[in-house]
Amino acid sequence: MQVPLLDLYAQYANILGEIRQGLEELFSTHRYILGPQVEELEEKIAAYSRARYGIGCASGTDALLLALQALQIKEDDEVITTAFTFFATASCIHRVGAKPVFVDINPRTFNIDPDKIEPAITERTRAIIAVHLFGQPAEMDRILHLAQKYDLKVIEDNAQSIGSKYQGKTVGALGDIGTLSFFPSKNLGAMGDAGMCITNDKDLADSIRLLRHHGENPKYFHKRVGLNSRLDTIQATILLVKLPYLEKWNADRIKNARYYYKELADLEQIILPEIHPQAFSIFNQFTIRVKERDKLFEYLQKRGVGCAIYYPQPLHIQECFSYLGYKKGDLPLSEEASLQVLSIPIYSELTDIQKDYVVRTIRNFYR
Ligand SMILES: *Cc1c(COP(=O)(O)O)cnc(C)c1O
Repeated sequence: MQVPLLDLYAQYANILGEIRQGLEELFSTHRYILGPQVEELEEKIAAYSRARYGIGCASGTDALLLALQALQIKEDDEVITTAFTFFATASCIHRVGAKPVFVDINPRTFNIDPDKIEPAITERTRAIIAVHLFGQPAEMDRILHLAQKYDLKVIEDNAQSIGSKYQGKTVGALGDIGTLSFFPSKNLGAMGDAGMCITNDKDLADSIRLLRHHGENPKYFHKRVGLNSRLDTIQATILLVKLPYLEKWNADRIKNARYYYKELADLEQIILPEIHPQAFSIFNQFTIRVKERDKLFEYLQKRGVGCAIYYPQPLHIQECFSYLGYKKGDLPLSEEASLQVLSIPIYSELTDIQKDYVVRTIRNFYR
């Protein structure tokens, strides 16, 4: 039996007619650069995320870079974020010339620990990038409170959590700018790269729109040095087909998560992911913690159960950030998580037989 970590074909098989039809329509117009599908997607994603504006771009990574550029974050500024996240959350800070300041996590939710943010704030701190990791929102009430107290901007890296909620509110536009990724493995995935910024602030939306297209306005006159980072119209067409299914896919993931919570509850060697009482997770990943992680990883892989380690090394001790001067031991909870985490299949098309096989294989490992 094979249970992949993610089966993109299983999703495609259910919607292939609609995708082909959408693409045929696009191919009959050939409007590939910022075609009308991009604007339609921007409006629909913004509405879905309870934001006023959506500005498509080439990737979630570029969305973060555009957000920092729009907020005028630059040299000598500091930006606080979590050490336990995907690399792009912090590379954007470096790329605008600012300094990433890493803080540790709440080991039960894997999200940034708000208690650790305040001690990291200095005169140079300009912004916080909160990451809603694995589908679960960070504690936005406390983060926004600190931002207000110290006059900081807040970016939500919402690459993994489109449609999740905190205190009943859809996340993404609770801060100044939210960033989305439509990388194929996200809950709403394109067939290639794509991303988006969302915001309620018209000036920020205008800045991002300018910056994603060479800072150009009018044509061939450049107000700022921007990027070429547009959301591809082919990807927008595909995402427009997929968006109406997102709620169902998220609900299926939640159902799968419930199954794991029930069937793995008695295994004391496994710590199941904890969802904060105020949070509603869409389970982009189902990430367990185990002591013998590498052995379990190998055991599952050998028996056809796809799994992955997100993330094997926290950002503060990545080689490229050695100039920041962090050393091992500085953020012990992030470091410990990176040695213990294992993500198991949670995608919406998982069958009962597959889920049962995942559970049985894990149980056999501990027998
Ligand atoms: C996927 C991801 C990104 C980057 O998105 P891309 O579209 O791959 O550039 C950024 N942050 C987080 C937390 C992610 O999971």
